[in-house]
Amino acid sequence: MQDTLMVLEASYDWRLILLSIAIACTGAFVAFEINRRLTKLTEKKQIYKWIFIGSIVLASSIWSMHFIGMSAYQLHIPMDYDSRWTVVSFFAAFAASFTAFFVLHQKQSSISALLSAGLITGAGIAAMHYTGMQAVSFAGQVTYSAESVIGASAIAVVGSFAAFALFTYMKISRPLLQRVGASLFLGLAVSSMHYTGMEGTSFCIPETYSLFLTPDPVVNQTSLLTATITGTAVIFISVQWILFQEKRWFHETHYKDAITGLHNQRFWMKQVPSWNEEFKVIIYADIMRLRALNQSYGFTSGDAVLKQAAEMLQNRISPESFVFKSEGSKFLLCLKDADNFTADEQLSALQLPYEANVFQDSQRIHLSLCFGGTAVESSTPPERLAAQAEIALAHAKQQERTLFFYEEKNHQDLSDEWMEMSLRKALQNKEMAVYYQPQARAYSGEVNKVEALIRWQHPDYGMISPGVFIDAAERFGLIMPLTIQVVEKVCLQLKEWQKAAAPIQRVSINLSPLHFEFVDANRQITEVVHRHGIPPEMIEWELTETSMVENLQQMAGQLLELEREGFYIALDDFGAGVSSLTRLQDLPIHTLKLDKQFMNGFPGSDKKQQVIQLMITFAELSRMEIVCEGVETKEQLASLQKMNAGFIQGYIFQQPVPASELVFSFAPLTNSEGNAISDQEK
Ligand code: C2E
Ligand code: MG
Ligand code: MG
Repeated sequence: MQDTLMVLEASYDWRLILLSIAIACTGAFVAFEINRRLTKLTEKKQIYKWIFIGSIVLASSIWSMHFIGMSAYQLHIPMDYDSRWTVVSFFAAFAASFTAFFVLHQKQSSISALLSAGLITGAGIAAMHYTGMQAVSFAGQVTYSAESVIGASAIAVVGSFAAFALFTYMKISRPLLQRVGASLFLGLAVSSMHYTGMEGTSFCIPETYSLFLTPDPVVNQTSLLTATITGTAVIFISVQWILFQEKRWFHETHYKDAITGLHNQRFWMKQVPSWNEEFKVIIYADIMRLRALNQSYGFTSGDAVLKQAAEMLQNRISPESFVFKSEGSKFLLCLKDADNFTADEQLSALQLPYEANVFQDSQRIHLSLCFGGTAVESSTPPERLAAQAEIALAHAKQQERTLFFYEEKNHQDLSDEWMEMSLRKALQNKEMAVYYQPQARAYSGEVNKVEALIRWQHPDYGMISPGVFIDAAERFGLIMPLTIQVVEKVCLQLKEWQKAAAPIQRVSINLSPLHFEFVDANRQITEVVHRHGIPPEMIEWELTETSMVENLQQMAGQLLELEREGFYIALDDFGAGVSSLTRLQDLPIHTLKLDKQFMNGFPGSDKKQQVIQLMITFAELSRMEIVCEGVETKEQLASLQKMNAGFIQGYIFQQPVPASELVFSFAPLTNSEGNAISDQEK
């Protein structure tokens, strides 16, 4: 006789329901965080590693939610799980999660791809649930109502679509509250799929077995523990892993140089207080003419040269010494005395010849490196050590020596007393020279305008650039005599050019922000120009944005005075400071000089280009001339030409040079379509 089946009564333990939902939501949160991180990765191997970890986290949380949910559903008869089906159910969850991450991080995920992925993922989650149910083994059988299967599967599919939409939305950084909200949503969606499925699930036993029913509900402790421990452990371990990776990333991006893989100078600055005493010498090494090399062979070769130089430098010093990457083509070396390889021996090794492969045509080239060093004293702050080595490097370059050491005798370089005394002497002995840099027309390459840039020809140290002494001249009240000397020299030079019928029509001269604080300053400079009989329209005064900050009213008055005299006025380093555009329109400014900072990473992104285009258009609309400073590459020049930039000042044409070396016309570097021409074409 066939035994009739009876449906068992079940009750829910609400604490376990909450635990299952909490695990699902926490897993979703971690998965969202992994998803956010994924968008920042570019390397394929890394992407797959993170997708794998993300899938494990999401799958484990769905899976353990299911089995904790099963423990929350309590019958009065023991229930067990078949281990093979349990494992299969995990793989179903993993496949669903992997599909989700994989589709989301395809470069071009079309709507139809997302929809089918939603369907596949939803089906995967439903499959996880029902294979998990298949694992259930007890003294009866499980039946499902068709409505609940359809309902639960529909929730799984719709939930997956919603999850995809949320994941895509969460790719960009969102505030924590939104991220938590999205995780709760996803966690609840997955849990409600489970509990809807359970609503239409009946556990039946033959009526004759009713004798085996226990008075109290039975919980399978092993299954509950396994599910809880697996879920929490996976989440905990992955959070630790994410934190560890974040820390590593921070280190890599902040303290490491991407090209050479060396620690950067910022790292040195951070570490140096604890290291100072250990090192004997600090040296800056600079690869000469790397810029030219980049231009002739391309940036990939330039990068390859930097990398090889880094390796060579490392090989020539003791293992206890260090090489750090400084900016541009520079490295910072900290040398330590070792018994078998002293700092002096390392210095000699560093000065041996260098050769590197340039990948194009696999050519081998000679590299010339310049070194500027300083002895380490533990009492000297790191910034000062770096400044001393920098000065030494500048001397080495000026004197065309491989190595220059910052020694006792020139220790005074940085001392105020020495600087003041030397500057006074320099003004007296007329040690100041004026160099000129062309401001060429962007399209034709013609030069009618130049900028006058001061240089100090020091009898002992060679040429010193204004960055080192202008600030000191301002502090010691020497800026006015210095400006006057520059104006005198420029006037004399203009007369020379007039005699030689050179095409120069205007020279721009830099004025210190302090200039506008002196009551008599304008009269003094105007007097010099008049005395030499130079027409004022041949001179343009450059003032910096910072001079505009204070006392705008007074400054506007002084500028008007200069304009009335017939001089031109330029705003230097525009965009580096704080000037507001409305302020500019109140001042008599004829030329805007776009700061060289704008050229960093230009042409690069569209955004960069749009900002520069905006400046150019602003200048045009305000009827001002525009000079783009710091233009170094052909790509920059070609982009600026397309944007209709007026004038170009930068190394691409010529560095500041003595008047005799000035070039008055450059071949425009574009073809008829306005594209930069290659070296071969040139
Ligand atoms: P500035 O007026 O903005 O001058 C432009 C600076 O950019 C010059 O540096 C020039 O050599 C440099 N430069 C030009 N093209 C490029 C390029 O393509 N790439 C890069 N990286 N740099 C480029 P310099 O001659 O060292 O002058 C520095 C600053 O010193 C000047 O900046 C100016 O503010 C000041 N200065 C120079 N001469 C005088 C002067 O006679 N009087 C006053 N008060 N200040 C001066
Ligand atoms: Mg200037
Ligand atoms: Mg400038």
